[in-house]
Amino acid sequence: MQISSVEAIPIHRELDERIAIAQKWISSREYCLVRVTTDEGVTGWGECWGPVAGNREIVEEYVAPWLEGRDVRNVEQIHDDLVFKLTGSYHSYTPASVVGGVDIALWDAYGKSLGLPVSDLLGGRRRDSVRAYATGHFWTEVDDFETLKERVVAEATGHVDAGFDALKNKIGFQRHPDFPWGWREDVELVAAIREAVGDDVRLMTDANHAYDLATARRVGERLSDLGVYWLEEPVRPHAVDNYALLNRELDVPLAGGECWAFEHEFARVLDAGAVGVTQPDVTSAGGLTSTRRVATLSDAHNVQCIPHVFGSAVALAASLQVLATIPGEPMLEFDRTPNPIRDDLAVDPVTNDGNSVPIPDAPGIGVDVDPDVLDSFRMD
Ligand SMILES: [Mg+2]
Repeated sequence: MQISSVEAIPIHRELDERIAIAQKWISSREYCLVRVTTDEGVTGWGECWGPVAGNREIVEEYVAPWLEGRDVRNVEQIHDDLVFKLTGSYHSYTPASVVGGVDIALWDAYGKSLGLPVSDLLGGRRRDSVRAYATGHFWTEVDDFETLKERVVAEATGHVDAGFDALKNKIGFQRHPDFPWGWREDVELVAAIREAVGDDVRLMTDANHAYDLATARRVGERLSDLGVYWLEEPVRPHAVDNYALLNRELDVPLAGGECWAFEHEFARVLDAGAVGVTQPDVTSAGGLTSTRRVATLSDAHNVQCIPHVFGSAVALAASLQVLATIPGEPMLEFDRTPNPIRDDLAVDPVTNDGNSVPIPDAPGIGVDVDPDVLDSFRMD
């Protein structure tokens, strides 16, 4: 099961309508996929977090020559060696997204070589389907807050009509120059969703680190009164001490993890009591290897791991495999924003069955990439 080639495949698609979160507008979706091929002709797919730029060059020029000739069965050792190599070379920058893309591709190839789903190799399946929450409710171009609120509430009731009983929306207007509102409108938006969907729907909200500490406290107190299930990324990810403070003070638990990588970063977060929910992303936290380790570490701290997912069909498939293995009651973050690469790249797209999503048991990560669709998305 020797690795014979490692390729970086950049893909991109403009969106019909741009959408916004506290930090930015999103007008396209873009990914650097990783394709590993073994000497037996088995292909494994992975996905890096973030822009293609940087990921592609490091995968192709720096990692591929080092990786070729190694055995996919040694995936965890390769993961650790790769983290060591990249940390030595790039120091504090350590491109975790590259580790993520390569690690997922290796697990996929390993599983396919054995004819087993990756969940079997990660310690075995605890579930064959997983509760899913609808992530969305991003902001669109509007002239006034009332229109935005109406659109977001309509989206929320649409998800409930589609069977979801857990939703997540975006707050943090003050951080975005094109949305001239503040924390009061953030709270008003969540209150409007709560009123529309009722108390039985699990409601989470995500500030994408828009706040200073005092604003986070003001918002968090009010979200607690609205029965919000978690407040995600209220402050900047490096401010672990602020997370710990807020997580102790507020009734609403904090969630975070999409900007943290590797088990050693999550160990610091968990030791500090900084979150009630950990959210490693397979593409940015160091792949399936690190995500599974973070889930174990979280469980040891009595903290639920609920991975972050906001990728293509490849990241979604990989996330489902690790979700099959996570202790407790994880949920799938099921991105419902418009994304042709998530919906069309796989021959069999992932869909919800009411409030849950079935976890594939096909070999590897269980994704069958459509070659013609892939070609239509390629940037190179
Ligand atoms: Mg988030």
